[in-house]
Amino acid sequence: MSKTLPPATDVIVVGAGNAAFCAALAAAEQGVSVLMLERAPEAEAGGNSRFTAGAFRCVYNGVDDLRALMPDLTDDEVAKSDFGTYTEEKFFDDMGRVTEYRTDPDLCEILVTRSKSTMRWMRDKGVRFMPIWGRQAYKIGGVFKFWGGLTVEAWGGGPGLVDQLTKIARKNNVAIAYGARVLSLVADDEGIKGVRVKHGGKTVEVRAKGVVLAAGGFQANTEMRTRYLGPLWELAKIRGTRFNTGDGIRVALDIGAMPTGNWSGAHAVAWDRNAPEFGDLAVGDNFQKHSYPWGIMINANGERFVDEGADFRNYTYAKYGRVILMQPKQLAWQVFDAKIIPMLRDEYRIKQVTKVRANTLEELVNKLEDVDAEKALETIKTYNKAVMTEVPFDPSVKDGRATRGLAVPKSNWANTLDEPPFEAYAVTCGLTFTFGGIKIDTTARVIDTDGAPIPGLFAAGELVGGLFYFNYPGGTGLMNGSVFGKIAGTAAGQRAAQSP
Ligand SMILES: Cc1cc2nc3c(=O)[nH]c(=O)nc-3n(C[C@H](O)[C@H](O)[C@H](O)COP(=O)(O)OP(=O)(O)OC[C@H]3O[C@@H](n4cnc5c(N)ncnc54)[C@H](O)[C@@H]3O)c2cc1C
Repeated sequence: MSKTLPPATDVIVVGAGNAAFCAALAAAEQGVSVLMLERAPEAEAGGNSRFTAGAFRCVYNGVDDLRALMPDLTDDEVAKSDFGTYTEEKFFDDMGRVTEYRTDPDLCEILVTRSKSTMRWMRDKGVRFMPIWGRQAYKIGGVFKFWGGLTVEAWGGGPGLVDQLTKIARKNNVAIAYGARVLSLVADDEGIKGVRVKHGGKTVEVRAKGVVLAAGGFQANTEMRTRYLGPLWELAKIRGTRFNTGDGIRVALDIGAMPTGNWSGAHAVAWDRNAPEFGDLAVGDNFQKHSYPWGIMINANGERFVDEGADFRNYTYAKYGRVILMQPKQLAWQVFDAKIIPMLRDEYRIKQVTKVRANTLEELVNKLEDVDAEKALETIKTYNKAVMTEVPFDPSVKDGRATRGLAVPKSNWANTLDEPPFEAYAVTCGLTFTFGGIKIDTTARVIDTDGAPIPGLFAAGELVGGLFYFNYPGGTGLMNGSVFGKIAGTAAGQRAAQSP
C-alpha cells in the first residue's frame, strides 16, 4: 500500500499474525475494505505466529477428514501412517484436563466445534497443510503412529504460514501497513469509530466501522509480565516476537473492556539457557528442548525437581518453563545417555545449543555449569536404581515405566542413565505467551466491565483471556487465533457492510 494511511476504511485489523490474517480474510468476504495495521517492520512482521512450527490442533474423525484438508496426501503416505482420530470429545477432555477445568466453557466449545470447519476454510482460501510426521509421530513397525492429538502443520511451519496468509490477503484486496503501531482506540457512546496509529513517525487517526484487535499478549513487556506473572518473570527469555507488549489489551482496557482469564498464568517452556532475550527468526522454535520426557532434569542444587514423564510432552511442556524459572539460578540441565541420544528431537542438533558431553557420569556432572556436581551424581545414581527396568520403554504410549520410591517420581519413560556417551543440555524458562487478556463473547465481541459488548470492537488470538489456565495443549494457540479471528472478522465485516 501507499506510504500514507487512508483517513478511513471499513474494517481495521490490528496486527498481522495468524489471528489478524484470519480476521482480515473473513472481513473481506463481506465485500468491505480492510486495512491491517502491523506494528513491526515488514521483515519482522507476523508476530508470534511466524515463530511457530505451524502446528494446529484440530478435530478429525478419521483419515477422510485429513485428506480433505491435505489433498496432496498420497495413498502410500496414508498406508504408512496411523493417524488415529482426534474427536471433539478428546479435544474437550484435553482442554478441560490441562486447564484444570477453568477454561471458559462457551469459548472452549466454539474453539473445539469450529476447529475442523475453520481449517477447511483456511484450506479453501489457499493455505496448505501437511502431517507433522517429524515431531508428532513415532515409526513403529514401519508405520508412523501419531500420539498427541496434534497431526497437522502449515507448509513451511510458522514462516510458511505467515507468507501464505500474506499472499492470500493481498490477493483478496486486504491492505497491509507495516511499521504502524496502534496507540489507542477512538470511541464514543455509540462505540468504536477508529484508531490512533503511529506510522512513519506521525500519529494519525484512521476511522473505521469495525476494529478487530489481534495484537498478541504482553509477554514482551518486562514491566507488565513482572507485574502480572510475578517475581522472577523479568528474567525469562521471550521465545517469539519483541512486539507483543500488551498494546492491544491496554487500548481495550482504556475504553472499558473487561479483563479476564489467568492474568498470572503463561505458556512457558524449557528453552536454551543462552538463547537471546527475544526470539531469533533464523532459529525459530529450535531453542526449545522438548525431549525431557525421555531423560531427567537436574537443577543447580543437583536435584531432580519435576516428574519429567507425568504425561505426553504436548501436555506438560507449556507449564514446565515456569517450574524451571522457579529453580535456583533459573536453570536446569537435561541429561540423556547413548540409548536416547539418537531419539532426541532435531532442536538438540542445532549449532546454537548449550551442551556438554562426557564418557562417564563423574565427568559429566563436573561439566554441568552452576550445578552441585556431587549431589547431581548422587541424584543420577539414586534415580538409576529406582527405574522399573522390567517395564518396556515405549514412547508412543504412556508406558508406565516409572521410578519406585523417589520423592520426585518419574511416571513414564524412565530410562536408566548408564550407557556412555552422556549428554546434558542447559535450559532456562522461555516465555511463549501470556494467558490473561480481554473478555469476548462467542461472537468475538469485546465485552466491557458492565458486561455489555462494546459496539464495533472485536478481538481474537493471544490477547483474549479465558481459554487457557495454568497449561495449554500444544497447537491450540494457532487454532484459537484462526477460529476466533474468522468469527471476529466476519462480525466486523457484517457490521461495516450494514453501517451507512
Ligand atoms: C517459538 C514459538 C513456537 C510456537 N509454536 C506453536 C505451534 O506450533 N502451534 C501453535 O498453535 N502455537 C504455537 N505458538 C503459540 C502461537 O505463536 C500463538 O498462540 C499465536 O501465534 C498467536 O497468534 P496471534 O495472531 O494472536 O498473535 P501474533 O501472531 O503474535 O500477532 C500479533 C501481532 O500484533 C502486532 N502488534 C502488537 N502490538 C501492536 C500494535 N500496537 N499495533 C499494531 N500491531 C501490533 C505484532 O507485531 C504481531 O504481528 C508458538 C509460539 C512461539 C513463540
